[in-house]
Amino acid sequence: MVATDSPTAPIPEPGRDFVRDIVQADLDAGRVAGIVTRFPPEPNGYLHIGHAKSICLNFGIAQEFGGRCHLRFDDTNPVKEEQEFIDSIQQDVRWLGFDWGEHLYYASDYFETLYHWAEHLIRAGLAYVDDTPADEMRAMRGTLTEPGRNAPGRDRSVDENLDLFRRMRAGAFPIGARVLRAKIDMAAGNMNLRDPVLYRILHAAHPRTGTAWCIYPTYDYAHGQSDAIEGITHSICTLEFEDHRPLYDWFIANLPVPAHPHQYEFARLNITYTVLSKRILTTLVREGHVTGWDDPRMPTLAGQRRRGVPAAGLREFVRRVGVARANSVVDLAMYEHAIREVLNAGTQRRMAVLRPLKLVIENWEEGRTETLEAVNNPENPDAGTRPVTFGREIYIERDDFLEHPPSRFHRLSPGREVRLRYAYFVTCRSVVKDSQGEVVELRCTYDPATRGGDSPDGRKVRGTLHWVSAADALPAELRLYNTLFARPDPGAGGDILADLNPASLEVLTGCLVEPALATLPVGEAVQFERQGYFCPDPDSRPDALVFNRTVGLRDSWAKVQAGQKAD
Ligand code: ATP
Ligand code: MG
Repeated sequence: MVATDSPTAPIPEPGRDFVRDIVQADLDAGRVAGIVTRFPPEPNGYLHIGHAKSICLNFGIAQEFGGRCHLRFDDTNPVKEEQEFIDSIQQDVRWLGFDWGEHLYYASDYFETLYHWAEHLIRAGLAYVDDTPADEMRAMRGTLTEPGRNAPGRDRSVDENLDLFRRMRAGAFPIGARVLRAKIDMAAGNMNLRDPVLYRILHAAHPRTGTAWCIYPTYDYAHGQSDAIEGITHSICTLEFEDHRPLYDWFIANLPVPAHPHQYEFARLNITYTVLSKRILTTLVREGHVTGWDDPRMPTLAGQRRRGVPAAGLREFVRRVGVARANSVVDLAMYEHAIREVLNAGTQRRMAVLRPLKLVIENWEEGRTETLEAVNNPENPDAGTRPVTFGREIYIERDDFLEHPPSRFHRLSPGREVRLRYAYFVTCRSVVKDSQGEVVELRCTYDPATRGGDSPDGRKVRGTLHWVSAADALPAELRLYNTLFARPDPGAGGDILADLNPASLEVLTGCLVEPALATLPVGEAVQFERQGYFCPDPDSRPDALVFNRTVGLRDSWAKVQAGQKAD
């Protein structure tokens, strides 16, 4: 489909990354009977573009290899988790085009099992209750170069540990008073094996289990066991969990789990000018730097959807990025390029004027209008045409006129003839200025023989302008988005909030759009000819239209690629 020398190359073939190779090899060798993957978000925020990579990988593998993919909420920290996030995550995974069927699970469904397994570890002499204060415990953990020190409680008897752990569960102790730790090795080179915490006391209500529990398993203790309970064959996660794998394997080796999942790590998605960390995204929302999780400047799926990004565009982007083990940063231009390509193929064209300048056609009768046919999508003839009204008074883009044009300016200026898209050739005869000397109106004539935009005598014009008709254009507000951060590596200077782009949102009012745009559904993108892709915002009302710019037309990715080749 795409030649190798095009700006979009190279595109990895689906099914040709190292995770899929492992899955295929496991099937071929009969090591697994079928493929079971899962996407395991913690419901402490909205999903972002990075999660889309993980979702496409896990659900994609399940689809391609005839297996299934679970959606499992890793809801082990009630302090940060909310029902709103549980709901939004489900909505976003569905929107992205994936379906978990009946396989919706929660780590909290396994709290009772996880508790029993914790007692199992205590009985085996592999876990103990520790009452060392948190900061002391941290100091006793040692460093990468120094071994840790054993806590005084490490040698408590099994009976004493069981008694203390049961009282922890019963609510006998205040928050943070005690923890349950695995008894592994305080001198282990891998810090994750230095007696990690399995349970902590949190007197906090949980979105699903309410106040049934006041001790909660840590993510590390719950995660792998949840995979085992569900019979996950390939536990796919990001590279930062590579060092946790020995711990997960230790649990699996020491607990009566029904299955032995294997973990494989891949590189997180990073994008220039973009922050993909829920912690920081949460700060942006809480502190009001954005209007909410679905602010169209946010890299969340909800934000991108509101902005008009189609799910197919996100999937295509993720496919092009591929799956690798080396961390890297993807150019934002590559994201926009993928979105633009998908929108270009699928969206209809409309005309909208961002900064209107009135144009009056002097040789057109007052009051007469004509209906012309405008092509909906030159890339797709099946999209048909639509009627547009033409008349004596129209509006063009202020930028498309210059009174004193430089030589390379091919648009309208005094004495110059241009084509109005789908309509006629017009020639500018004179300009009207206000008292400040600003041009407020162009007086033009049109050539009736050029209807549809072609001249019968083969006369050429250099410029073709979009326009709207004064007779039926509708006023609209346009929201133009720029990057939320002003530097490609937000936070690299130490203060990420200082890197916020003060010009991330530009609001244009008094724009004029074709009447056909009044009925466009919220979130559905169209191309405003020569301006970019736009979609109606949920704030849009029939008498106060509001559009978001999804992405502009100018493709800097093609330039980036061309530059690399020239080197
Ligand atoms: P944080 O942003 O605080 O690091 P998180 O995004 O890792 O949190 P989770 O809910 O644990 O939050 O993520 C769910 C899954 O999505 C995990 O398996 C994680 O590995 C994966 N994931 C998260 N961020 C990315 C990313 N940038 N690229 C690829 N996968 C990601
Ligand atoms: Mg995480």
